[in-house]
Amino acid sequence: MIIVMKHQANAKQVAAVVSRVENLGYRAHLSEGEERTIIGVIGDERPVDLNQLELMDGVEKVLQVLRPFKLPSREMHPQDTVVALNGVKIGGPEIVIIAGPCSVESREQLLETAHAVKEAGGAALRGGVFKPRTSPYSFQGLGEEGLQYLAEAKEATGLPIVTEAMTIEQVSLVARYADVIQIGTRNMQNFPLLSAVGESGHPVLLKRGMMSTIEEWLMAADYILSKNNPHVILCERGIRTFERATRSTTDINAIPVLKELTHLPVILDPSHSTGKSAYVRAVARAGVAAGADGLIVEVHVRPEEALSDGAQSIKPETFAELVHEAQVLSEAVGRKLAKH
Ligand code: PEP
Ligand code: MN
Repeated sequence: MIIVMKHQANAKQVAAVVSRVENLGYRAHLSEGEERTIIGVIGDERPVDLNQLELMDGVEKVLQVLRPFKLPSREMHPQDTVVALNGVKIGGPEIVIIAGPCSVESREQLLETAHAVKEAGGAALRGGVFKPRTSPYSFQGLGEEGLQYLAEAKEATGLPIVTEAMTIEQVSLVARYADVIQIGTRNMQNFPLLSAVGESGHPVLLKRGMMSTIEEWLMAADYILSKNNPHVILCERGIRTFERATRSTTDINAIPVLKELTHLPVILDPSHSTGKSAYVRAVARAGVAAGADGLIVEVHVRPEEALSDGAQSIKPETFAELVHEAQVLSEAVGRKLAKH
């Protein structure tokens, strides 16, 4: 349920409504927009006498939110959320390109790639150290050693770091090194992990479950937001369909759908959604044109030697072209690229 305050409602009236909501046993979630204040009523859906609330001073109307997700919804928070990562803002007017290897493989590989990403115009660096591999025999990542290389790359380039945590135990460790904690597709519905990253208060990049609907994805985001962590970025990374020509199917529709349903920033991962380096640039262009707030792209200095996802990793020179195209397209849609 949301309580829309009148345009001219004062702070005292807002405070009175908040305390009334709390006395009824609910949590009040305040969203102060330029136009008016909205108070989200969070908690069990026990009946509340709407008329009583509507009679309070300063209240314009009380609305039921019929959607199954609450805090991510536009009704609850009409203005766009901007997530800041060490100076780089996602969800504002600028489009942010995050790039780097699928996995951190060695100090040399990471530093070489980080410099190439920076030079080509990337605004943040990605690299996995805890890898959710489908086979237990595949490379599983360097763990904390990899985090140290990421810290060194950040120190050398200034690029903020995005890396994945797979378990609750890894969350505080990853938060110490990373500017954004990635939750991978396979963990999108790992509810205790979502609560843990919510409680960390750290920015989170929540990838779409490969077999999840947009509604389920937004409910997953609600697990994080409901722990009082508003710093969530959604990442479309392709879904499973009957089509086998590509690794996944890019749900480009998800971008405008999410822009309508939620205030959270939305980025696209054309690497995992296509699975083939030859298609990455084209789908990246589509993402920017469709209104994504950013891209996350796998770049490898020697894709043929990559320990994971080599087939979809592009070389730095191709990445530089991708950045240039994203720049042109972002201007065509009234935006521009963020630079670090
Ligand atoms: C990745 O980013 O390397 C990754 C494993 O992504 P996803 O969870 O989308 O498969
Ligand atoms: Mn990968």
